[in-house]
Amino acid sequence: MSPMTATRTALVVEDEPEIADLVKFHLQREGIEVSITRSGRRALELARQDIPDLLVLDLMLPDLSGLEVCRRLKEQDETKAIPVVMLTARGSEADIVAGIEMGADDYVTKPFSPRVLMARLQNAMRRRASATSEQNDTVLIRLAGQLVMDRERHIVTCSKTAINLTITEFEMLFMLARRPGFVRTRDQIISSVHGPSTVLSQRTIDVHVTAIRRKLGELGGSIETVRGVGYRFSDGGLA
Ligand code: CA
Repeated sequence: MSPMTATRTALVVEDEPEIADLVKFHLQREGIEVSITRSGRRALELARQDIPDLLVLDLMLPDLSGLEVCRRLKEQDETKAIPVVMLTARGSEADIVAGIEMGADDYVTKPFSPRVLMARLQNAMRRRASATSEQNDTVLIRLAGQLVMDRERHIVTCSKTAINLTITEFEMLFMLARRPGFVRTRDQIISSVHGPSTVLSQRTIDVHVTAIRRKLGELGGSIETVRGVGYRFSDGGLA
């Protein structure tokens, strides 16, 4: 892995020059070195040659679609850990769901404000940097001291008060809370939570979320509904 002092790099895959330049400008202001390509095929070559710390991916490209680029990156060991943030047109929830299920980390809808864009991009890079060490630590979650989940002992405390969750609720909350800020689609939640005695449908997910929110009390609002896509544990509500 590269040392902490190494310059971070980003690859921007976008065929609209004004948007590509805008993203580049704001990344460069943060000291990030930026390459731009308008071609999905070229993006795959560049990403393999020199693994970037971030890939900003437009979905509508002239050759390969952004979804296809994402799929190919995520199926190769060398490139699958690159954080991918998709740039999407408003109203393309189906593409967002597909992208996230393919392993994209986040998305920003056009038109976007530079402030929102940079916050999302910085988060994606930061989360990925800590994800490697988190990966095996599936036992305990602590979020700013407010939510503590001990998976081994099936104990949840919220602001130091013990909360009773069913096993399904526990697993759903655990999945969302272990990576604050990441959107999870309903299908991802279903496949991660399924167990021998659990049958979940898209509808029952919503019912479980309502129950979890109620049990969490004040912290319940931390489980955000992302319309048309799924759910996300807020990474801002715990500061
Ligand atoms: Ca485009």
